[in-house]
Amino acid sequence: MTQLDEAFLADWAIHSRFGAVAGTNGVDRQAASAADGEQRRWFAELLESRGFAVHRDRIGNQFGLLELVPGAPWVLTGSHMDSQPTAGRFDGAYGVMASAHACFRVADELRESGETPRCNLAVVNWFNEEGSRFKPSMMGSSVLTGKLPLAEALATPDPRGVTVAEALGELDELGEDDVFGAGSGREVASYAEIHVQQGRSMEEDGVTIGLVNATWAAHKFEFRVRGEQAHSGSTLMADRRDALLGAARLVVAARELVDEFEPGLLHTACGELNVYPNSPVVVASEVELLLDLRSPSSEVIARAHASLMATIDRVQREDRVDIEITAEHSWEQNPYPEAGVELAREVAVELGLTHDRVMTVAGHDSTNMKDEVPTVMLFVPSVDGVSHNLAEFTKDEDLIAGVGHLTGVVRRLAAGALLG
Ligand SMILES: [Zn+2]
Repeated sequence: MTQLDEAFLADWAIHSRFGAVAGTNGVDRQAASAADGEQRRWFAELLESRGFAVHRDRIGNQFGLLELVPGAPWVLTGSHMDSQPTAGRFDGAYGVMASAHACFRVADELRESGETPRCNLAVVNWFNEEGSRFKPSMMGSSVLTGKLPLAEALATPDPRGVTVAEALGELDELGEDDVFGAGSGREVASYAEIHVQQGRSMEEDGVTIGLVNATWAAHKFEFRVRGEQAHSGSTLMADRRDALLGAARLVVAARELVDEFEPGLLHTACGELNVYPNSPVVVASEVELLLDLRSPSSEVIARAHASLMATIDRVQREDRVDIEITAEHSWEQNPYPEAGVELAREVAVELGLTHDRVMTVAGHDSTNMKDEVPTVMLFVPSVDGVSHNLAEFTKDEDLIAGVGHLTGVVRRLAAGALLG
């Protein structure tokens, strides 16, 4: 192991303590939580100690900027440090730390060689990629790419009614200006992100570097099921309008939808359920539930969507409940730019790392960025595919290989690769 690798692992070990869940190796570091704020302050100090200027934009994306060529466009690389409740320490956090170290290495190389790159270097810690405390997910990159209006994002409340603007303001993590894009005077030339796979195919296939060439389609629904509050003992069964029963039928319907398609073509889940009044001896009057559909095929999503709507009609009729969609968030199956996949392949060959093309099932901030600028998306393996779980794990050797690979990508991007 080189000194550079040891330096990465040392920072990684410190970093994994923010929001650590006692007695586990995992973290609980939801967007704009106290732990997220502490981590951001530590990360800012790390970046500044390496000569990067730290800025936050108006949705709380945290950037470390190293201007090497005044006025030149920027290579942006990063991921997100926020986590799901009681989640793994790797997820997006690995990507942010790998990006920082990749930029440190390339910056040091350039200082030593005296070469002038064609692009400047920027690291990003995107705000609220997870979407657990504030919906929707990928909030920071959605605002930067114009897919979500800033005002709407800032006004989004968490379950206690605290808005994004309030939570970020309290941490002093809300900037007053754009850092990139219109009016900022800075332009992103290209984007690179590395992430743990969150699936097990790379581990099974003995692949160290995943060259992400496409993203699965997804459709996420927020439903509100309305019935009528009643005594759970004395109310006649025929008189009930049980919102929880209606919601439960949607949970089951989501699972049964999967069997309408070939194995592996559709993943579904209900990840969150809020029951009101959620009290003993009361038939629930209202339930909010989140239901996700994901598939490598947009057509499968469309057919699953239609089937789900037919089930909703039936549940409304049979259980005498009202079901409305209160919010939706979807994206199509679409490819990553081929030039970025090829660049990543060349770097893997150069470094002698096993590699293969993989699709990403989960959404990432690169899903947004790839629609705007040339983008490279990389994976390293996840042991047993465990993710959004305290036990999530990736081996040190894979973490290190990923940093080395990303460094090769950033080096080429800084030299002008993918500039067109
Ligand atoms: Zn992530």
